[in-house]
Amino acid sequence: LRQFYDVLAKWDNFDFDVFFKNTNDNDVLKAIEKDKLNEIDFLTLLSPKAQNYIEQIAQKAHRLTLQHFGNAKLLYAPLYLANYCANECVYCGFNCKNKIKRKKLNYDEVRKEAQAIYDLGIRNILLLTGESRAKSPVSYIADCVKIIKEKFPSIGIEVYELSVEEYKQLVEAGADSFCMYQETYDQNVYKSVHLSGPKADFKYRLEAPCRACQAGMRSVNIGALLGLSKWRKDFFFTGLHADFLQNEYPSVEISVSPPRMRPHIGDYEPAEIVEDKDIVQIITAYRLFMPRGGISVSTRESSEFRDNLLPIGVTKISAESSTEVGGYAEKNISTAQFDISDERTVKEVQNMLIEKGYQPVYHDWF
Ligand code: SF4
Repeated sequence: LRQFYDVLAKWDNFDFDVFFKNTNDNDVLKAIEKDKLNEIDFLTLLSPKAQNYIEQIAQKAHRLTLQHFGNAKLLYAPLYLANYCANECVYCGFNCKNKIKRKKLNYDEVRKEAQAIYDLGIRNILLLTGESRAKSPVSYIADCVKIIKEKFPSIGIEVYELSVEEYKQLVEAGADSFCMYQETYDQNVYKSVHLSGPKADFKYRLEAPCRACQAGMRSVNIGALLGLSKWRKDFFFTGLHADFLQNEYPSVEISVSPPRMRPHIGDYEPAEIVEDKDIVQIITAYRLFMPRGGISVSTRESSEFRDNLLPIGVTKISAESSTEVGGYAEKNISTAQFDISDERTVKEVQNMLIEKGYQPVYHDWF
């Protein structure tokens, strides 16, 4: 089996700074015109030079999005089953060293929480647990999936790294999509921000999306937490990772998310500030590189900004999200993972989509 780690290793000695310094206008224009972009074209579109051509790149990104996705925009909501965590990620409010209100939903509460999301009109749900194998074992996650499957046709999981066999258990229980963030593809930075816990194993996490594909997940979403390290490089590797997965597992629907750091409990400062224009560059460059790839943007981003990203490539958005455990049925019973920015209701997001000529999609199974 091919591993993405080997693809990543090939870039060990590549000097990104020199590459960006030498990128000229002609390189950018040539990359925009190509029908099928290679890795270097993609990196060219992520270069500082390409910022001068954002308008042209965005126009092509818009055309490709319409061509491959029409006007459909999928809506989903996260459901936090627990916020216990065994990891010490310096940038996250759920970090095991943080003294926060911890909670894990019992099965009755899972049912209530799912019902509250169902009542909002959402049918595509993403289950999160924090990352504690001891507190949220695979059997618990599988039980929750089975409970939620009674109402929801499409269930995603965003949990700690599992083996192929364990992912299979969740697929058998009814999960059909998988989400995992590598956070950063820079191994040194990765080491410096993941101080303890199983997540500190860079390679085991890196290959988790492959294992999810092998286990039969229908859809796989990956991403890096932009701002932890150099975003151009991190997003470049996110794109290569997505491309790798798509080539190895053609029947799986691969998508990416470009989350950037948001305020949370703790005092970690991002290494780099990722601006709105950078997110636009990331999304449009990715759309040209992977015309059929999904792009998901969460409520971490503001309503106005998210609306502006819709025409240029975004295919999935969350709505009326709570990042608290039990936050839909009841408010303030635990600490939220991060502050959300777009606070509109599902109804408001739905109205906005219709007004702009899009078709809100509530579940994506066929
Ligand atoms: S980022 Fe995930 S694994 Fe890390 S502390 Fe937060 S919840 Fe735990």
